[in-house]
Amino acid sequence: MPTPSFTFECIRKDLIAEGIYEVEFTKPEGLTFTEGQFLLIDVPLLDNAEDIQPRAYSIASSPDDDTILLVIKLAEGGRASTWVKDQVKPRTTTRVQCPFGKFILDPDTQKEFVMMCTSTGIAPFRSQLRTILPKGDTRNIDLFFGLLNEKEIFWEEELKELADTYPNFSYHISVGDQSSSFDGFKGYVQQHAEEMINDFSHKQIYICGAPIMAKAVKEEAINSWGVAKEDVHMEGFI
Ligand SMILES: Cc1cc2nc3c(=O)[nH]c(=O)nc-3n(C[C@H](O)[C@H](O)[C@H](O)COP(=O)(O)OP(=O)(O)OC[C@H]3O[C@@H](n4cnc5c(N)ncnc54)[C@H](O)[C@@H]3O)c2cc1C
Repeated sequence: MPTPSFTFECIRKDLIAEGIYEVEFTKPEGLTFTEGQFLLIDVPLLDNAEDIQPRAYSIASSPDDDTILLVIKLAEGGRASTWVKDQVKPRTTTRVQCPFGKFILDPDTQKEFVMMCTSTGIAPFRSQLRTILPKGDTRNIDLFFGLLNEKEIFWEEELKELADTYPNFSYHISVGDQSSSFDGFKGYVQQHAEEMINDFSHKQIYICGAPIMAKAVKEEAINSWGVAKEDVHMEGFI
């Protein structure tokens, strides 16, 4: 069966950190997805609206929310990036296919979740956290959120609010830039996780973001932390 197609209308677009936009759309009737999945947006060329190419974006809102939220990091000169920066604004519409993907938390496991992401790779985790925590999931969840530098940090207040509300949820922010004035962990997300977690034997690892990071974390999890292959899940933002 073909994946259903919808028209989204933009409600708002906000620059929430350096080069990072949060874009909220209306949620069309009949649209369903599972937290962690992504959609495909038809992105036109600026100077030729008939020239359309799809781009994938993870859904950052929960299936229980009334709107769809995306978080988009601009790639210099990129088609979708230019479109988001210059053309997307309240009341503009776009065609979207949804849902896609299998980056879904294992519903049957008794293990605890470790979520590891860089930049906008946090999108599916936001959706998952906002879905499972209010439903009373009490297992420990650790989110490791890596950014290049402190100017790229976003959603910190929201993460703090979640951690204050749900004692089983903790988040850990790191920045890669060693010369940054960031007053926290500086280094890779996997180094941060290694520092914070002593025993990975009861953990499932979920990784999302830049493919190079995702591959490196996956290898570390399997080869150094002793996590079984089937307990490591990743989504690379190619
Ligand atoms: C499952 C999935 C989920 C994703 N979710 C998200 C998400 O939630 N948030 C997010 O920000 N991203 C996400 N991505 C990444 C996203 O799909 C896009 O790849 C990203 O936004 C860049 O798209 P773009 O059209 O702006 O850049 P593109 O046009 O694809 O270009 C990418 C880069 O290549 C350069 N480039 C393009 N053509 C050439 C050329 N001919 N020669 C040299 N350089 C070139 C561009 O300048 C740009 O820097 C996801 C990807 C996947 C696969």
